[in-house]
Amino acid sequence: MDQEREVAALRRMIAEARRGVVFTGAGISTESGIPDFRSPTGIWAQMRPIYFHEYVASREARREAWRRKFASEPVMRAAEPNRGHRAVARLVREGRVSAVITQNIDGLHQASGIPEEKVIELHGNGTYAHCLDCRRRYEIDDLRAAFEREGDVHDCHACGGLIKTATISFGQAMPEAAMRRAETEILAADLCIVLGSSLVVYPAAGFPEMAKRNGARLVIVNNEETGLDDIADLVIHRGIGDVMGGAVGVN
Ligand code: NAD
Ligand code: ZN
Repeated sequence: MDQEREVAALRRMIAEARRGVVFTGAGISTESGIPDFRSPTGIWAQMRPIYFHEYVASREARREAWRRKFASEPVMRAAEPNRGHRAVARLVREGRVSAVITQNIDGLHQASGIPEEKVIELHGNGTYAHCLDCRRRYEIDDLRAAFEREGDVHDCHACGGLIKTATISFGQAMPEAAMRRAETEILAADLCIVLGSSLVVYPAAGFPEMAKRNGARLVIVNNEETGLDDIADLVIHRGIGDVMGGAVGVN
């Protein structure tokens, strides 16, 4: 199919849906300048992930995690929502999409104007940090200043616990409330649109699969093949901004 027909097919599916849900991965934010994980230019091509158990066990692993975090900060901070984010925000505003379930930690869905309560973050949020024990919040800028002064991030002032970005690392438990909300939204939807996820990270990738099994239509927009192309009703192997912008009528 050519692009125009694919976009038209997507537009039709959106029009026919009673209640949509959008599921996003790192691919929706590459057009904002944030690298994804699994593309050839992605982050995993350059370094291996730090697992949660390593972070908790090793001061050196924590230092390395913070060094990476502070190095990625300028890009994260400069990033703004792109055409794909804007198209999704419009679908939410119009009431066609009830929630956005995201694997991203960049906060760009919220920045595009989607109300906080309609964004379900499965892997947490990288724009701030918190204590792993008492959950007290810490700002990245303050931690950076301490890191530059002392060569390390301090422990929690309130309870002495370890401070970590508010993201979910490999090997770390998934956030229960977000998982429950995501399941509720998935089971209530008759359309699930997946944008920019390779659909290989579980349990997150299980949600689009659950939607399909529950009778919803499944649409996948991704530059390359994904783990669920075989069961999708519509697969579009193109850039997200153009496809979603075209389907929704957003520039
Ligand atoms: P992924 O890197 O595994 O997959 C991204 C997919 O998007 C790839 O298949 C890639 O081909 C595709 N893609 C990239 N740019 C695209 C574009 N403009 N149009 C269409 N397709 C495009 O990412 P994932 O599935 O989200 O899973 C990996 C983990 O990465 C997630 O758990 C997430 O927490 C984390 N992550 C988040 C960010 C972020 O917050 N922006 C960035 C990197 C990684
Ligand atoms: Zn604490």
